[in-house]
Amino acid sequence: MTDPLRIAVIGAGPSGFFLAEKLLGQDTTPVTVDLYERLPTPYGLVRYGVAPDHEKIKNVTRSFDKLAARPGFRFFGNVDIGTHLSLEDLRSHYHLICFTTGAQSDRRMGIPGEDLEGSHPATEFVAWYNGHPDYRDLRFDLSAERVAVVGVGNVAVDVARILAKSPDELATTDIADHALEALRQSRVKEVYLLGRRGAAQAAFTNPEAKELGELEGADVHVLANEVAIDPLSEAELAKEEDTATRKKLDILQEYARRAPTGKPKRLSIRFLVSPVELLGDEHGHVRAMKIVRNQLVAGKDGSIKAEPTGEYEELPVDLVFRSVGYKGVAIPGLPFDERRGVVPHQKGRVTDPSGQPAAGLYVSGWIKRGPSGVIGTNKPDAAETAEAMLEDAAAGITLAPSAGDIESLVRSRQPDVVTWADWVTLSQIEAEAGKRAGRSRVKLTRVAEMLAAIRH
Ligand code: NAP
Repeated sequence: MTDPLRIAVIGAGPSGFFLAEKLLGQDTTPVTVDLYERLPTPYGLVRYGVAPDHEKIKNVTRSFDKLAARPGFRFFGNVDIGTHLSLEDLRSHYHLICFTTGAQSDRRMGIPGEDLEGSHPATEFVAWYNGHPDYRDLRFDLSAERVAVVGVGNVAVDVARILAKSPDELATTDIADHALEALRQSRVKEVYLLGRRGAAQAAFTNPEAKELGELEGADVHVLANEVAIDPLSEAELAKEEDTATRKKLDILQEYARRAPTGKPKRLSIRFLVSPVELLGDEHGHVRAMKIVRNQLVAGKDGSIKAEPTGEYEELPVDLVFRSVGYKGVAIPGLPFDERRGVVPHQKGRVTDPSGQPAAGLYVSGWIKRGPSGVIGTNKPDAAETAEAMLEDAAAGITLAPSAGDIESLVRSRQPDVVTWADWVTLSQIEAEAGKRAGRSRVKLTRVAEMLAAIRH
C-alpha cells in the first residue's frame, strides 16, 4: 500500500471544509488533509460573517464537524502561514497545497472624505458584531442618529438590519456581547441603504429584501419613482424571463406603497444614487454625504450601468458604512491579480504570469473566483479544485516533499496550536454559556481568552 498523499489546506472557512470534504470523501486516491487556520476557531465567514440573526445558515457547520471526525483529517488552529510556517515549510512537507483564504479586505468607494471619522468598511462592522478577535476592539459611534450604508448587496442588508433591529430581537442570538451592549445604547433612528443602479439591479436576494419589511422596530421607506421599472431593465427581464427579479421588484414596490406606522426607526432604501463626497465637520467627523442622482444606460458590454445626471442631494448622516464588496489579499509567494483581488488559476491550479500551472499549488473559494455567491456556491467550486488536484496527483504532478510528518514542527513554532479536540472544548464552553444566558452561544472574542478556556 502506498503512503497517502499529504495535502495542506490553508483557511478553515466553508471553502476549506468543502474542499477537505471532497478530498477525503473519494476513494480512488488515499489522502490525508491538514486544515490550517490562523485563528483558534474554524468556520471562517460562517462564524465571523453570517449575521447573528441568520442562525439557520450556520447549520452548515454540522457537516463540517462530521468531516472533522474522519480519519485522515487534522486541524491546526492558531497557526498562521507566513508567521509560524512559511510556504517553503509547507512545500517540504506536503504533496499538494490549496489556499482557501477568502477575501480578507474590502473595496473602497474612491471618493473625497472616505477616511473621515465615522466612515467605515461594512466588513469591519460585520466582523466586530460577530466577535472576530482582530476587530473586537474597534469603536463605532452609535450615538449617530442617521447612518448611510453604501451598496445594496446582502452584506449591506445585514448591516442595515442589525442597525435597525431592536436589541431585544438580537439578544437571543450569538452576537458578540460587546456589540449587543453597544447596540443597546444605540441612538440610530434612520438607516439609508444606497443603490447606485436601479431596483432591478439590486444585488441582495429576495428573502433578505422581504426581511427588511418585517422589522419589529423599523418602518421601511421606499420612493415609488426609484423602484418603477425602466425600459432598459424591462427589456433585460423579458429577455431572461427573470422571475426572481420581478419578485424583488414586487417586494420593493409594495414597500413604496406603505405608509409609516410610527415605529421608532426608519429604514430608507434608495436607488439610482451614488455617493460623490463625504462632508466633514470641524472635528474631521462625517456630517453629511453628497449624492448624485443616476440614470441607467446600456454599457458597451451590454450591462446596465449607472450614469450621473448632475443632480445632487445632501444626506445628513453622521455614520457611513461602505458595503461595496470584499477584496482578496495577496498570498506571499503566489502570483496575484491586484485589480480583481484573486490568485490567477486554471480550474483551481495556480498559474504563473505566463499562464503555466505551478505544480502542487491550488486555490478555491473567494481567493479563486472573487467575493461572490452564497456559502453553498463554494461547494461546486471546491469540487472543481479537488478534481484538478486528484487529476494532477494521478499524473504524478505534485510537489516532492523531503520531510515526514509536520506536527512536531508546527508545535515547535506555535506551542499554542489549537487541535480539533481543543475547538470542540471551546465550542462547548461557548454553547453552555449561551444556554445559561438564553442564547444560542456566547462567543469568546479574544484569542487569549479562548486559549485560557481550552487549557483550563
Ligand atoms: P455584492 O453582492 O457584490 O454587492 C456589492 C454592492 O455594492 C452592489 O450593490 C454594488 O452595486 C455596490 N457597489 C459596488 N461598488 C460601488 C460603488 N463604487 N458605489 C456604490 N455602490 C457600489 O457584495 P456583498 O454584499 O459584499 O456580498 C458578497 C457576497 O456574499 C455576495 O455574493 C452575497 O450574496 C453573499 N452574502 C450572502 C448573504 C446571505 O445569503 N444572506 C449574506 C451576506 C453576504 P453594482 O451592482 O452596481 O455593482
